Amino acid sequence: MKPRIAFDLDETLGATITDSTSIIGFCLREGCIELLEKLQKKYYLVLWSVSNRSYVDKILSFGLKKYFRESYSWDDISSSWKNIREIDVKFLIDDNEYYKEIAQQYGLDSQYIIIPPFGSHEYIKTPMLWVKQIAEILLKS
Ligand SMILES: [Mg+2]
Repeated sequence: MKPRIAFDLDETLGATITDSTSIIGFCLREGCIELLEKLQKKYYLVLWSVSNRSYVDKILSFGLKKYFRESYSWDDISSSWKNIREIDVKFLIDDNEYYKEIAQQYGLDSQYIIIPPFGSHEYIKTPMLWVKQIAEILLKS
């Protein structure tokens, strides 16, 4: 069985594209599909969002569903801190530094990979940094 790892959705994998009234797509981070392809050979991928189920399902339908057969939304787990033990994953990749700070109290911080938020200054400056950050921990063979 492959080790389980979780990804956050918004500002981690990318961001929604909207027109004036509704969500019309999802803009993936640079290098996203290539990274997910590599990771899914070694890991079982889980999506964990704090948005509601209907939103998560809508975004998954824009091409992410094949990578994430298992997903959690706010409707499934209504918690302001993402505890990796709750969904039994080895790592969480997220743009929210707060999760890692809390994880420190439980000695779990090395299992939280925090990447610069999509659209942030750091991301724009070095768009492929997140791939390097994740690969260094999860794709070393
Ligand atoms: Mg996020």
